[in-house]
Amino acid sequence: MSQRGLLRVHQPRPARAKRARVATSTHARIREHKRALKHATMRDCGRRCVYCGTCLAIDVATLDHVYPLAHGGTSAPGNLVTACARCNRLKGDMLPVEFFARHPWAGANFVRYARAVHRALKRGARRAVSLAMAA
Ligand SMILES: [Zn+2]
Repeated sequence: MSQRGLLRVHQPRPARAKRARVATSTHARIREHKRALKHATMRDCGRRCVYCGTCLAIDVATLDHVYPLAHGGTSAPGNLVTACARCNRLKGDMLPVEFFARHPWAGANFVRYARAVHRALKRGARRAVSLAMAA
């Protein structure tokens, strides 16, 4: 009797059916994520520029990383605020303490309007403003 019949033959598994392509592209999903993030940040900041206090419409609002990305800041909600283009440009890549020391009015508004921002950032802002006021 032949051995062949007893041997287990390894057959290649049939290729798994590819997952159905999701209708939305990656770009569309990123765009949607950014839009949602902007909406949430707008809400958290009372629909204002947290630096000058101007009321902002969604299409003119910009997102600002309080602790700049260039200095290792993240896009976590606690580091994001809404700002008008003018203030965002003015702040540039400055560290928040640097910016608030130079422009205490921005720091005072920030303490007031950036409600959902990380506690440490608010504490730093408060300190920078009081130091600038005392100077
Ligand atoms: Zn502003």
